[in-house]
Amino acid sequence: MTAYQHHLINGSWIAAQSAETTPLYNSATEAELAQVAHGTCGEIDLAVRAAKKAFASWSRLPVSTRADYVRAIADQLEEQVEQLAQGIAAEVGMPLKLSHRIQVQAPILAWRGTADLAVETLADTFVGHSTITHVPVGVVGAITPWNYPLHQMTGKVAAALVAGCTVVLKPSELAPCTARALGEAALAAGLPDGVLNIVLGDAATGQALVDHPDVALLSFTGSTAVGRRIAASAGQALKRVSLELGGKSACIATPDASPESVVRQVVGSCFLNSGQSCNSLTRLLVPAELYDIYRDLLADAVTRLTLGDPLDPATRMGPLVSAAHRDRVRAFIADSESQGFDLIAGGSQAAIPANGYFIAPTIFGRVPAGSALAQQEVFGPVLSVITYENEQQAVDIANGTAYGLAAAVWAGEIDQGLTLARQLRAGQVDVNGAPYNAAAPFGGFGDSGLGREGGTFGIEEFVEIRAIQMPVARDKS
Ligand code: NAD
Repeated sequence: MTAYQHHLINGSWIAAQSAETTPLYNSATEAELAQVAHGTCGEIDLAVRAAKKAFASWSRLPVSTRADYVRAIADQLEEQVEQLAQGIAAEVGMPLKLSHRIQVQAPILAWRGTADLAVETLADTFVGHSTITHVPVGVVGAITPWNYPLHQMTGKVAAALVAGCTVVLKPSELAPCTARALGEAALAAGLPDGVLNIVLGDAATGQALVDHPDVALLSFTGSTAVGRRIAASAGQALKRVSLELGGKSACIATPDASPESVVRQVVGSCFLNSGQSCNSLTRLLVPAELYDIYRDLLADAVTRLTLGDPLDPATRMGPLVSAAHRDRVRAFIADSESQGFDLIAGGSQAAIPANGYFIAPTIFGRVPAGSALAQQEVFGPVLSVITYENEQQAVDIANGTAYGLAAAVWAGEIDQGLTLARQLRAGQVDVNGAPYNAAAPFGGFGDSGLGREGGTFGIEEFVEIRAIQMPVARDKS
């Protein structure tokens, strides 16, 4: 059994002080994988002090040198691809083949992409007689969730490091293998001591990081409820804050869209990672007169999502991350069944493997737009199909939740798709199945958060802007 009992502080793995731990289970077998240490306030303090000390020299290095370190970390992560993909498949439950490509290789590319953008993003610019310079904010407290652990660490750590900040990372207690791999990669890459510190732990460890007076910026990805609490604490201390929170993303299918294409994208998005993606398309808005066509296509598409062990190549959908999370999703399904929504697929009686935190891919039809199922983030494999009568109603329904993280539009003509996309209040809108772009800004409106990650926008989150005014020659006439 693996033990996650060490924190990376000031360039060394230090044994955890507290005997308190969180048990970690294999999501497909329920076998205990490890015990994860709870970092104490004292360990957070040591890590923040190390980061503060390292900031003085790290922030003065040329941007190109910092970018080279970030590339070296990517090279070291590359050495651990197989081990990381296996570890994330066991912890989170994503099928191994997908875990390889989506959970590991894509974020490694993003480490390199962040390094490549750094020099240009942080170069001085000029406004009249002012020189605009980018000043690293200081020590960053980064708190990440479990669903795409390396992605989330990349969005925060790679961007903060090139910007000149030093970091204390508190990863999710449900996905610790990535944090350890990242720590090993940073050490092997020769990152100076204290530039990246990692303290394992639970909510209390995260709270200690949030409350530490020497943390200048909190970069958090997780639930809206915890994000709200962090924003409140950060507000009191006037710390910078960046929040990547939940979502309830809609896909609008126009009457002339291809139902087959719509169903392919929405099923792919909603059930990826067993529905545990913040930007999953979980609400499909279809013209009322086409409901039966969509119903049949969706019911058929779901039959191909074979449930099983993430390590089995035949598996298309794995389990959920934990028993507690599975039970929360089950409660949403039971409530929706009791309300009599049209159950198109799955549901509480559907067959699932005997062990593991599985939920069958579930689709409810004719879901009222104002119902709990259509308004709240389930974060599991549950799709709501909502009917609309006209385009304005579709836009109003799509914009009618507290969230605004992602959305999609499928239209017969691309121009019509773009016109609709411009009316949607979400941080990312995909038209007609457009692919993911790692360099585009990612983040949300409303309850989906504050700030952006990805590309130049993600790096800019970690700098203060300083304007330096230069003397202007006097007009002697
Ligand atoms: P969570 O909010 O329960 O936990 C996230 C992290 O915060 C964990 O490391 C946890 O230990 C820590 N934490 C919990 N309470 C804390 C506190 N009081 N102070 C400081 N830290 C605390 O979320 P989760 O269950 O890990 O992740 C699922 C949620 O994350 C979903 O709502 C999902 O939509 C969201 N998410 C958002 C994005 C995005 O980019 N917008 C990406 C992935 C996940």
